Amino acid sequence: MAEPVLQINELVKNFGALRATDGVTLDLRPGEIHALIGPNGAGKSTLIHQICGTLRQDSGTIRLAGVDIGALSTADRARRGLGRTFQVSSLVSEFSALRNVMLAVQAKQATSFGFFRPVMRDVSLIEPAMAILERLGLAHRARLPAAELSHGERRQLEIAITLALQPKAFLLDEPMAGMGLEGSKALTLFLDGLRQEAPILLVEHDMDAVFTLADRVSVLVYGRIIATGTAGEIRRDPAVRTAYLGD
Ligand code: ADP
Ligand code: MG
Repeated sequence: MAEPVLQINELVKNFGALRATDGVTLDLRPGEIHALIGPNGAGKSTLIHQICGTLRQDSGTIRLAGVDIGALSTADRARRGLGRTFQVSSLVSEFSALRNVMLAVQAKQATSFGFFRPVMRDVSLIEPAMAILERLGLAHRARLPAAELSHGERRQLEIAITLALQPKAFLLDEPMAGMGLEGSKALTLFLDGLRQEAPILLVEHDMDAVFTLADRVSVLVYGRIIATGTAGEIRRDPAVRTAYLGD
């Protein structure tokens, strides 16, 4: 079997007396979408924060492409190829959608060269940034300030920015949240193709999207993975049905 791109082992995070993640072990393999599902408060977002470094794990290890990144800053993890959708607040809201993506393309270029390099002229960033916006169906909104985009479009713009950084793995925490039916369908189609570029750890409540997209599904309940399997296996798993799918 191919070496996992991302391997997390026995991750634990306590908030006071509450153990939000309780020894979580999972991996992300090349080309796959691995969905993480579970009830509200199960610890899914905590896990994503631990992986990208916005929360430090109390114990456990995180390896990206074979390298232990568990002690690195969030920025260093991103530079090493961990692609997390940015919070909406990290968009520069007065800049156009296009300029937001251009900044990410530029940031990627700056870190790809190990020596000083004059900042690329803006015009050379336009084409790659537009190509990314086109992939997300946002090209027609390119010139609008990020602040004027709809909620769903801003979520797509966050993904565009993450894409521009060409990560080794994507971590997406509820990318469909607040998108209408059409938006969710379009994003599902997009994510389906995205896995070929880099595998995706997908936290998502939209079960249609999960069962359509996921190569594997892990179920987190009270900070513990209670099952991992294909969509079909998970749907039939009695423990999962009792704990989460509601029967
Ligand atoms: P999920 O994303 O699965 O809904 P979370 O990871 O957000 O769950 O939360 C897991 C548990 O940890 C919840 O009980 C939540 O209230 C708690 N929690 C999350 N973040 C914090 C925090 N910063 N401080 C204290 N408790 C937190
Ligand atoms: Mg959450």
